[in-house]
Amino acid sequence: MGKWRVMNKGMVLHRMHELLEGHFGDLGWWPADTPFEMIIGAVLTQNTAWRNVETAIKNLKECGLMDIEKIEREEPSHLAAVIRSSGYHRVKSAKLQELSRYLIAECGGDLKKMEARDMKDLRCGLLGVKGVGPETADSILLYAFGKPVFVASAYAKRVFSRHRLIDEDSPYDLVQTFVHENFDGTTKRFNQLHAFLVETGKKFCKKKRALCGECPLGGLARGPKERNHHGHC
Ligand code: SF4
Repeated sequence: MGKWRVMNKGMVLHRMHELLEGHFGDLGWWPADTPFEMIIGAVLTQNTAWRNVETAIKNLKECGLMDIEKIEREEPSHLAAVIRSSGYHRVKSAKLQELSRYLIAECGGDLKKMEARDMKDLRCGLLGVKGVGPETADSILLYAFGKPVFVASAYAKRVFSRHRLIDEDSPYDLVQTFVHENFDGTTKRFNQLHAFLVETGKKFCKKKRALCGECPLGGLARGPKERNHHGHC
């Protein structure tokens, strides 16, 4: 009897975390000086590499714009120019201003007050901000406000589906629910799991090619139909 038959999905998930922690150690996510900087990063990181976000954040700091009220008041075209390196700069600039407006309206820009709120209310409010989708909202909840929530990234979906824990075409909420129901999550463990899965997806479990022979999860059973699917297992 193979490992797959004696490990249920929850056990596989916990084992994944254990193996990835052994491989990556502490990844120190999210790299930011303040919760507001983290919120900025969560918006800017969409569809771009982190190094481009770092440049945009550096520019914001140099221009004295790493501040909720200053972002909200800034002339849109100038803000877009400052964050140009992050790509889709006009769209992202509008999102940053919408988010800042929302945070000012909700708590006068005092993020500590937001942190004290109930997670469901916070999530609902963030999702009501134009341009903020579930992944950005959950990243903000987890990393800026310290709420225990799983960020169901495309990387997580890829790793989980290749290990037959979920279907390939599972929607965001289903991937998140799967983890919430099967993983013993605290803020710290959700933080780590998201970071580990993003790194695994970038380095090993690539979209077009799964480098299972080099991956820390290479020895983990993938279920009967998935074995040899990528030609590296
Ligand atoms: S590269 Fe292979 S072993 Fe690693 S997560 Fe992807 S499918 Fe699993």
